[in-house]
Amino acid sequence: MAEPAGNPPASYPKTASCLCGGLTATVSAPPTMTHACACLDCQRGTGSAFSYSAFFAEGAVRVDGASHSYRRTGDAGRWQESIFCPTCGVCVLSRLEALPGIIGISVGCFADPGFEKPEKLWWASRRHHWLEPPHGLETAETQ
Ligand SMILES: [Zn+2]
Ligand SMILES: [Zn+2]
Repeated sequence: MAEPAGNPPASYPKTASCLCGGLTATVSAPPTMTHACACLDCQRGTGSAFSYSAFFAEGAVRVDGASHSYRRTGDAGRWQESIFCPTCGVCVLSRLEALPGIIGISVGCFADPGFEKPEKLWWASRRHHWLEPPHGLETAETQ
């Protein structure tokens, strides 16, 4: 199937990087899923209106550089870990207890406007009032 205009075929490997370049993640294959989430924790965690994360099989991800991590327990009682650069503070990676063997990468860190679009917007009920879900994007009112 032809890709829509403005979304050229993705090529791999791709490297995600924090702002200072100290923490990078190189992926050798496309994501298994890509999500946006407007829950309040994602708003705090990103400092923005929603998170936008791509999830990769652990074996497809190479991480280089120093990192710190922060683990918290989510609503469902499972931990979620943010892995960020100790120098510039950008969260490049995440892990979820609910998704063993999978690594999440903050899509913005790829600095690639052609990246795969999210398949779903979670927690659409918490999205900012001005934010209309893009046409064709599946939404879930909660998670
Ligand atoms: Zn950095
Ligand atoms: Zn969220």
